[in-house]
Formats: sequence, C-alpha cells, structure tokens
Amino acid sequence: MPIANGDVANGTPVSRKVEVLDHCKALQVLESAYESRDGLDITSLLNSKENGALTYNDFLVLPGYIGFAASEVALDSPVTKRISLKTPLLSSPMDTVTEESMAIHMALLGGLGVIHHNCSADEQADMVRKVKRYENGFISDPIVLSPKTTVGEAKELKEKWGFGGFPVTENGQLHSKLIGIITTRDIQFHPNADDSVTEVMSKDLITAPSGTTLAEANDVLRKSRKGKLPIVDAEGNLVSLLSRSDLLKNLNFPLASKLPHSKQLIAAAAIGTRPDDRNRLQKLVDAGLDVVVLDSSQGNSMYQIDMVKYIKEKYPQLDIIAGNVVTREQAANLIAAGADGLRIGMGSGSACITQEVMAVGRPQATAVHAVASFAAKFGVPCIADGGIQNVGHIVKGIAMGASTVMMGGLLAGTTESPGQSYINREGKLVKAYRGMGSIDAMEDKKAGGGVKNSKTNAGTARYFSESDRLLVAQGVSGSVLDRGSVTKFVPYLLAGLQHSMQDIGVKSLVELRDEVNSGKVRFELRTVSAQAEGNVHGLDSFEKKLYS
Ligand code: GDP
Ligand code: GDP
Ligand code: 5GP
Repeated sequence: MPIANGDVANGTPVSRKVEVLDHCKALQVLESAYESRDGLDITSLLNSKENGALTYNDFLVLPGYIGFAASEVALDSPVTKRISLKTPLLSSPMDTVTEESMAIHMALLGGLGVIHHNCSADEQADMVRKVKRYENGFISDPIVLSPKTTVGEAKELKEKWGFGGFPVTENGQLHSKLIGIITTRDIQFHPNADDSVTEVMSKDLITAPSGTTLAEANDVLRKSRKGKLPIVDAEGNLVSLLSRSDLLKNLNFPLASKLPHSKQLIAAAAIGTRPDDRNRLQKLVDAGLDVVVLDSSQGNSMYQIDMVKYIKEKYPQLDIIAGNVVTREQAANLIAAGADGLRIGMGSGSACITQEVMAVGRPQATAVHAVASFAAKFGVPCIADGGIQNVGHIVKGIAMGASTVMMGGLLAGTTESPGQSYINREGKLVKAYRGMGSIDAMEDKKAGGGVKNSKTNAGTARYFSESDRLLVAQGVSGSVLDRGSVTKFVPYLLAGLQHSMQDIGVKSLVELRDEVNSGKVRFELRTVSAQAEGNVHGLDSFEKKLYS
C-alpha cells in the first residue's frame, strides 16, 4: 500500500500529517533501523516460549536480494568432519529405501545413500562392494583370469560381477605377466564353453606403464578406442586396469561423491550397536566401507558411546555418523566419544509414531537448531533426518543449521528403491514404504523374511524392545506414490534448492548458515491461516505437477 498523506472520511478529504520521505532515502532508513529489521532472527524465532517448539511448517524464510543466477548457487556441504558432498542429500537406511541401486545413484548425483542393515551381514557387505566397484579410476584389484579359465567360467563371472572385461595373466593373479584380455564380445557367441579363454582373448594389447598418471592413462585409453587399458610394470606384469565406461560415468555425473585417490563412489552403511554388529562392521570394512551410520532412534546410550569408541580405535580411517539425537545433551555425549557427524530427528519421520507411542521426541526444526548450533562449535556436521516432504523443508533444515538432510519417504517411490511399483485399489501407481520400527519390518527381522525384492531377512535392533517378546511398534507400513527415477527427481530437488537460495539472497549453503547466525537472514512465524494461505486454495480442482 502506498503511504497516503490524505484520506477520505464521509466523502470529505481529511488532511493528516504523515511525513512522506524521499524515496532515495529508503536504504538509509533501512540501515538506521538495522536493529529492528523486518522479520525475526533465528533466536527470536525459536526462543519464543509461547510458540513452543517448531516444525518446518511453522515458519518461513524471508526473501533477500537477488544478485546472481540460481545456477551459481553452490550446494557443497560436509557430511562428516572429513567428507564433504557436492549435494546435501542422503537416503535413509531403510529396507524400502536404500540398497545398492539407491546408494550408487545417490552417490553419482553428489549425495550419499546409506545402505540398510535389515539383512545378513554378508548381503549388506555385498551391497557395499557393488557401490565400491561401480566406478573407478585405476582398478587396483581387477578380476583376473588364468589360462586355465574356460569360456563358460568367464561367462559366469560376467553374470556375477556385471562386467565382462577380464585381463588374463600367467598365473591368474595380479602382478603376474599379462598375456591377453577378453571382453564380452569375445565370449558372447563362442560355441564351446569348455575352450580356454586363451583361444578367444586378444593378445595384441595397448598398455600403459605403471607410474602413468590417471589423466595420462585416460588419454591413452581415449585414443586407443579400446574398452580397457591394462597398466603393466617394466616386466610386463599386470598392476591395474582402466575402463572406458568410467570416463563416461565421470563425464555424465560431474557431482559424484567420490574419493579423490581411487575415484570410487563413497559407500555408507548403517549398523546397530549390539555385539554382533562388530562382526558385521568387519565385513563392511573388508568390502570397502567409508562411512558407518550408527542406527539408533535414541543414540545417547552406553551401547552407542562404547561402539563409537571401539570403531575410532579399531578403524580410524572410517567416518562415524552417530545418532539419532534431538538435544544438546545427547549430542555432547556422542561428540565427546568421537562422532564425526550426527543425525538429528526423533519422531519426525513420515512413517513414524514414536512421539505418539513413547511420548518422546522433538519437533524437527527446533531439534535441528538445538543440536546443530551446539555441534558446530566442535566442527561436527549434522544431518536433518526425517520429515522432509518437499524442497522447502530441505531449505529449512539447512537454515536451522544442518549440513545435509536425510530422506526416506520422499525417495521410497523412486525406481532406485528396493521393490516393485504396483497399482493400488484407487488405481494409483505406488511403492511400498515402511518404518523400520513398524510391526511388519520387525516381524520380517524375526522371521527372516523381507520386503519383496529387497534383501531384508535378518536382524537389526533399532526399534526392538529389550526382551523381543512383545514388539512395540514405532512406525507404520504403507505406500508412497511412484516418482520415477532419482536421476530426474534429485536434480529437481537441487534446482529447487538453488532457486530458493537465490530468493533468500545467499550464494551457497555455507553462506545461508552464516547469514542465519549473523541475523541477516530473517524468518517469519506462520499461523494456521498463514499455512492455509501458503498452500493451494480456492481452486475447484488442480494437478500438482512438480517438474518437467
Ligand atoms: P565390461 O566392458 O563388460 O567390462 O563392462 P564395462 O566396461 O561396461 O563396466 C566396467 C565397470 O565395472 C567399470 O565402471 C569398472 O570400473 C567397474 N569395475 C569394477 N571392478 C572391475 C573389474 O575388476 N574389472 C572390470 N572390467 N571392471 C570393473
Ligand atoms: P579434475 O577432474 O581435473 O578436477 O581432477 P581429478 O583429480 O578429479 O581427476 C584427474 C583425472 O582423473 C582427470 O583426467 C579426470 O577426468 C579423471 N577422472 C576423474 N574421475 C574418474 C573416474 O571415475 N575414472 C577415470 N578413469 N578417470 C577419472
Ligand atoms: P521420512 O523422510 O520418511 O520423513 O523419514 C525417514 C526417517 O524416519 C529415517 O531416516 C529414520 O530416521 C526414521 N524412521 C524410519 N523408520 C522409522 C520408524 O519405524 N519409527 C521412527 N520413529 N522413525 C523411523
């Protein structure tokens, strides 16, 4: 509304003495009134006792100044003290969300998928191995064949591993003389499965000497027009292997979460804190695990603190994400024990009934701010876990101080989650999604059964009651709408996040957290009617299409 210096009462203009300032002074006035800037700073937002604790829907971020393109916004963020991701998104360790396909794709897209542990240790280790094998720089432990290997055996190996390019060495081991290489095409139509691979392998090989840098080797590979480049030492022994398909993966997924030396995808997996989980962890570490998530709904326990100390001592190279926590006191114990990252959330998950049943938990926005602001003093990054229903919630989780967010329900409907989509009674295409503390999930643990097409079959204890005699549910079992592939959905979330940062006027997630702390980024509380206003209203019907 323009400022008016006159008004009309009963048809007669009434003169009022309201000073109209020169429009050129707008910025000066704003500067001088800095202390009373529009909106609320984060402390006022969260500390007003009358409002109680806040969820993401209870507030909004006020817009700032747009001085850059949305595409310029950097989304890098740390997930542990040592590992930073290019995109701040994680998938939950749930048996309807993250197995190897989700883990591989989340990592390719710059995030991280945490493989669930509602399966045997061997099955979980196998999934970790698949993530680690998926992409490489130098393949330092390639599958190698011996001259005695038959074409039939080579076909079986291709079936098992999913790739069919195998170097052949004199004794079938690495560091033995390279005598040839076979590829899928060599064996595909070979009529006699009992023939030795030496009959079909290529012997005229292009190789590169050990000591060649990855960039140089990639160059040789590009020019060679071959699928593989074996690296050999001065005696012609095989040292490692390069694969052409990795050049393409690197090109197609520039944000991928990879380790700088191996160029392998970062693998993360969850475990519990029971004695058996130590054996499980050994298998995961042997498979190449980089990040372990201690999966507990209430992480502040003697079991978890012991486990953090044990892992720090035994596997110093492994990054530990501890949790879940929602208070500073809980966080302090885990930080003191040595946690490299924290997972925040109790009862905010979409399939979760903990707050209702246990009367324990905390609204998520307040929980994230309480823990993240404390953890930041020790350089421990935090994950806002649960309750993310849209791009806006990701923004709010990060504005509250989280470095990354973890999603279950939002990703459960994608192609990369375990299980198949099906048509429900209303004719909608859906996929199963269930809380890990649902009776279904817990009974599957006991019975050794599992979600269709998932590897679920044996015991975790995140939500088990102490005696296991009576199961007390902390989650429900249901379904979510099919969403298509994460390769479309995650880029949508990221583009949305960039646009939101642009609206707020910050060029990176780091800047958002800084400007929230400095009081420059402002907030507004939302009344119930404000929430209604902010949603679609007054339409007869509509279709909510989120991206194209
Ligand atoms: P291939 O041509 O049938 O061997 O398969 P591709 O070249 O399409 O894919 C090979 C993929 O598997 C690449 O991303 C490799 O990095 C990866 N990989 C992991 N371990 C190995 C291995 O031991 N041998 C081969 N050939 N590839 C491996
Ligand atoms: P940058 O890619 O130039 O930023 O530097 P990097 O250290 O990441 O990569 C060094 C070289 O390795 C470059 O030639 C990259 O193209 C290449 N590279 C990166 N990731 C992979 C990968 O997964 N496989 C292969 N074979 N090369 C890669
Ligand atoms: P969502 O993204 O679906 O809102 O929440 C996912 C998160 O919910 C998970 O990462 C995990 O922390 C939490 N969760 C998963 N299963 C259960 C459950 O059965 N009960 C509770 N309380 N939380 C769960």
